[in-house]
Amino acid sequence: MEYSPANAGPVLDQDARLSSDSEFCFACGPHVPCFTECCGKLELLLTPYDVLRLKNRLKLSSADFLDTHTIMRWRTPHGFPEVLMKMDEATGKRCPFVTQAGCSLYEDRPGACRIYPLGRAATSHPMDGSRREFYFTVREDHCRGFEENKTWKVREWLADQGMEDYNRLNDMLMEIYVLRSRGKSVELGPQHIQMFVMACYNTEKFRDFLFKSRFLDKFDIDEELIQALKVDDARLLEFAFLWLRFALFREPVLNLKS
Ligand code: SF4
Ligand code: SF4
Repeated sequence: MEYSPANAGPVLDQDARLSSDSEFCFACGPHVPCFTECCGKLELLLTPYDVLRLKNRLKLSSADFLDTHTIMRWRTPHGFPEVLMKMDEATGKRCPFVTQAGCSLYEDRPGACRIYPLGRAATSHPMDGSRREFYFTVREDHCRGFEENKTWKVREWLADQGMEDYNRLNDMLMEIYVLRSRGKSVELGPQHIQMFVMACYNTEKFRDFLFKSRFLDKFDIDEELIQALKVDDARLLEFAFLWLRFALFREPVLNLKS
């Protein structure tokens, strides 16, 4: 698949839980009559990993990307702010990155744009923390991709769309939301929300925080990881999620130096 515009206003088919071996019929690309229709009038939630991939793709700093291309939603069920793509008012709220030829950021398009027409639900088992997940199809009235004669297994679609890193990093974010919803936190004040925004959405600021403060004097971190955190943005984001669990929820996921 070379093209995969995003979903808009999903209507969930709750009846069918799909496993990774379940099959569905779908195809998308310039040949479908609805091509890029889904790249407008949508609420496109950007995860921290989406923001990372997009700002790197556009060669922008995190702060510049957030300022130029996103809006922040502060009132959320889990109490942490969320980031949404800013749609283009001049084109009737189309995504600013859609072109006649499809997505101009295709290789770094957000997870929501990749996974459509599937949705994913994942939970951790409360006893052993093992991951449980299922998928479902998201059918929109305007989407004609379901009429195409191409059959996919769920796992084939996920691999084709490059979802592995997105799911892994998004699950780490979900763990933080779950800890919060279980009430397992200090009282979250403005400084905690600032910590969350920096760690999740501002790669440069979080890296400065690690390497230009006394952070490394306090935490016992493997030398290989320290070197990786200097250059690998995805490893840095993984570490940011761990640090948030430690700092906000007292989870023993990092070791202090004795
Ligand atoms: S990021 Fe790309 S695929 Fe997603 S809505 Fe925008 S143009 Fe469409
Ligand atoms: S087939 Fe569906 S996902 Fe593809 S362009 Fe049409 S509406 Fe978008």
